[in-house]
Amino acid sequence: MFDNFEVTIIRSARRKTVAIKVDLSGVSVRVPENLPQDRIRELIAEKSDWVQRKRQVAEQKRQAIAAQEQHGEHLDNGSRILVQGRQMPLELREDPQMGVAEESGRLIIRGPNAVRAEPEQRRALVEQWLFARAVQELHFCVDVYKQKVGVHPSIIQIKDYRARWGSCKADGSIQLNWRLIHAPIHIMDYVVIHELCHLHEMNHSLRFWSEVERVDPQYRSNRQWLKDNGWRLTL
Ligand SMILES: [Zn+2]
Repeated sequence: MFDNFEVTIIRSARRKTVAIKVDLSGVSVRVPENLPQDRIRELIAEKSDWVQRKRQVAEQKRQAIAAQEQHGEHLDNGSRILVQGRQMPLELREDPQMGVAEESGRLIIRGPNAVRAEPEQRRALVEQWLFARAVQELHFCVDVYKQKVGVHPSIIQIKDYRARWGSCKADGSIQLNWRLIHAPIHIMDYVVIHELCHLHEMNHSLRFWSEVERVDPQYRSNRQWLKDNGWRLTL
């Protein structure tokens, strides 16, 4: 209905403002129940530069996800593994002993049949290595920041979450997603600080955010980075 793209209009009796959203599923706009169609058209026209830019970003993302899905199946010689924000080249090496290790910036998979082994087996080995590294790095990170935040988490659990980076519970435990091992260090820091601050404030109030800001003055850009790039943080 608009120049060259479809817009889904979602009307709601409770809504008082207009919100335009552009993501992988397209352009949608949430509007108050009785807002006339012409007015909606005008509002979108006013924002058309922004909408076009967002549509381009969404398209790039769609292509990157498709490429990632194609690539992701094979972990071959020369494949790149994202570790703490850096692309680490993978090398498969014949060796009587099976194992994964970092060697001068490369990730080496060793094994008697490593090169010929099933891709799923290589994936499992790399995941195991990444998980162990995540446990180590996340614990270290919590140790550094719990002092700065001034809290004592009861338990730190490293979890396999699909759709969240961390959480915390009233029992004083915090949970962190092992996939944070793919993220640049300052992003891992932000997530850890965020969850630790919840041990002071179990909400997203102004008080909570000012506490986050005290420990991580860059938290706004880190948070935005995670929203924009979180989908990349996968094997
Ligand atoms: Zn939170």
